[in-house]
Amino acid sequence: MKKVLILGSTGSIGINTLNVIRNFPDTFQISTLAVNSKIDLLESQVREFNPGTVVVRDEKAGMELKKRVAGKCEVLIGERDLIEAAKNLDYDIFVGAMVGFCGLAPTLEAIKRGKIIALANKETLVVAGEIVTKLCSQYKAKLIPIDSEHSAIFQCIEGGKINQVEKIFLTASGGPFLNKNKSSLASVTVKEALNHPNWKMGNKITIDSASMMNKGLEIIEAYWLFGVEKEQIEVVIHPQSIIHSMVQYIDGSVKAQLGLPDMKLPIQYALTYPERLPNKFPRLNLAQIGNLTFFPPDLEKFECLMLAYNALKIGGTAPCIMNAANEIAVNKFLNGKIKFSHIPKLISTALEKIENRRSSDIDAIFECDKETREFVLTLS
Ligand code: MG
Repeated sequence: MKKVLILGSTGSIGINTLNVIRNFPDTFQISTLAVNSKIDLLESQVREFNPGTVVVRDEKAGMELKKRVAGKCEVLIGERDLIEAAKNLDYDIFVGAMVGFCGLAPTLEAIKRGKIIALANKETLVVAGEIVTKLCSQYKAKLIPIDSEHSAIFQCIEGGKINQVEKIFLTASGGPFLNKNKSSLASVTVKEALNHPNWKMGNKITIDSASMMNKGLEIIEAYWLFGVEKEQIEVVIHPQSIIHSMVQYIDGSVKAQLGLPDMKLPIQYALTYPERLPNKFPRLNLAQIGNLTFFPPDLEKFECLMLAYNALKIGGTAPCIMNAANEIAVNKFLNGKIKFSHIPKLISTALEKIENRRSSDIDAIFECDKETREFVLTLS
């Protein structure tokens, strides 16, 4: 039995992780569930999966849950308890499925214990990729990507040699605005931006997909996960989201991983790696799909993608600034405070004004994140 801690069990990845685990009651056991504040769903998860401990980041929600599940499991509350849980509780696999920067600190604790890290929280690698990868090798923690593109690359590299990889092709659906022209992006509504053609996900990542910042974050994520040169990572638009990414080797051979756009697949692989277990998920029917198409991304229209390429090139805390500015900008857009086309503007202003710290210690990252958030909150 493998004991699983899920950080972010009420989000889209967390729910899908539980959907996978439900099929393997003899293989996995939920030891801990941690959430921000959605306690209604957490309560039903507690009743079904019987974790020993749950952690609720929001204090008020945590107190309420404590009353509801009294006697059923231990309830920890607040940011500090979240980190303590990762640091002290008993588990084998850490599923990092929280949205944004807040996933970083608990993930670092799990890494320091040499756990298996099934990582969906790409922001962790974007802001602190150097620290995370160093600590993983120091503490022998195994980092397995859940992000579908990175899971695809991870699977394509299995059995090959990373020094024989010539190129990584990250596929991108292009999101809901693939066929809109640049000038019309200013007037798109929140509802339109949340209407992703292929994937059902949380609000933050869905807006990131619409702006293609998601792909930008994934370029940086791939850079740290696979240790290739920046120039070796390329984005190709593939609207059907069937090929989840590809790896080209030095002899010109290309390996691709295909599947239906369903996050349960990369989640299951991360949980069972290096094994594969049978399941009853729907199968890919290529004859029915018929056409797979590809074309290059429009970097002029999707400015966020360009910003991410540049932040990776600049290095230091530039990706951290970019990420923090994006989190705040996306929130502002979701709350009707700024236009969709202002998201990249806020990010580039932050990259201009916030000082890039060259030191790569974790305190610099936390300071930089905080400073950027405060700054971008003042922008409109
Ligand atoms: Mg992805």
